[in-house]
Amino acid sequence: MKNKKLVMIPGPTPTIEPIQLQMARATASFKDPDFVRDFKELVIDLKEMLGTAGECFVVAGTGTLAMEMAIANATKGGDAVLVVSHGYFGDRFVDMCKRRSLQVDVLSSEWGKAVSVDEIEERLSKKSYRALTVTHVDTSTGTRAPVEEIGRMVRRFEETLYIVDGVCATGAEPEHVDGMGIDVLLTGSQKAFGVSPGLAILWAGAGALSRRKMLGTIPDAYMDFEKWMPIMNDPFQYWGTPPVNLIWALKESVRLIKEEGLENRYRRHRRDALGIQAALESLGFRILAEPECRAATLSNILYPEGMDDRQFRIILEEEGIVVAAGLGAYAGKAFRLGHMGHIDRHVVVSTICAIERTLFRIGHPVEFGKGIRIYMEKSLG
Ligand code: PMP
Repeated sequence: MKNKKLVMIPGPTPTIEPIQLQMARATASFKDPDFVRDFKELVIDLKEMLGTAGECFVVAGTGTLAMEMAIANATKGGDAVLVVSHGYFGDRFVDMCKRRSLQVDVLSSEWGKAVSVDEIEERLSKKSYRALTVTHVDTSTGTRAPVEEIGRMVRRFEETLYIVDGVCATGAEPEHVDGMGIDVLLTGSQKAFGVSPGLAILWAGAGALSRRKMLGTIPDAYMDFEKWMPIMNDPFQYWGTPPVNLIWALKESVRLIKEEGLENRYRRHRRDALGIQAALESLGFRILAEPECRAATLSNILYPEGMDDRQFRIILEEEGIVVAAGLGAYAGKAFRLGHMGHIDRHVVVSTICAIERTLFRIGHPVEFGKGIRIYMEKSLG
């Protein structure tokens, strides 16, 4: 009998039945009073959940659109932007900014390490930047940025809007927009919210909204905060057709998050990550990110010397677990395991167990149950 496939890539993450059911509903008119009410409640809940008195935008698109939307509403051609990059997704901001004729400076780290708050402060002190972008968790490296500490520091630089890419973090790593001094936070639906891909979600604090106002007419219509603001406040109005079923699914996800409790959810992700990472280390793998900047949402796992990436991932998939390939210099040397969203202990235990079976099948020495024991000790302790 074939194993059921569990998609343990760092997004899209597994969708669970209550969320699937929302996506399977007959699509309503976006003017349907019940849908309008659902959408309005969702926006209010999201603002409360991530802590902003500003605005929240939920639009059809992916995380990349949300990244571009943040830049489009915060800058105009010629402005200087500082990009802090911990990998592939941090670098994505550089290309985006260049295309918009922004002057971009980049502060990059070696993959697996984080740029320090002091280094960022030094750059901001030397030159006036209109925006700073930080990727909370870079999915290519599993590196977590010290978002809260950066926010505390960046408050001194009033002209600099602080944009945080939370695509691989929001809903799993602690974030609070106003409380952490974040001006724009952005994410997509397919990661820690555990909804299918297709929604770009952004939170904009008061500073970001006043910057948007100051810019006047911007060249982008679909991405314009000012076009969407009336809809987010009164979803009976129209600008672009809302993706009805994804909005219902996101609302269900937010309901589940509230039921779990946001703090409990953050704690679960942190404990699971520590358990999974220790389990994999006990089986002979290494974790790319340094312990002090390891994400709770995914792990970039380096193979033991001589282990074949393709063979490992093909057999692991036969054993029922789909993981993602390493990126950049780590292609062929590492795999990426997502552990975020609506995943329970059955899922984590099955994943570790399938990794043990895979090691056995490729002839790597393995003591059955060792990884699971370590995971249980670390995550329950
Ligand atoms: N930022 C980060 C940190 C990501 O992980 C991703 C997607 N993996 C993106 C941005 C881009 O999101 P999307 O693929 O939904 O466009």
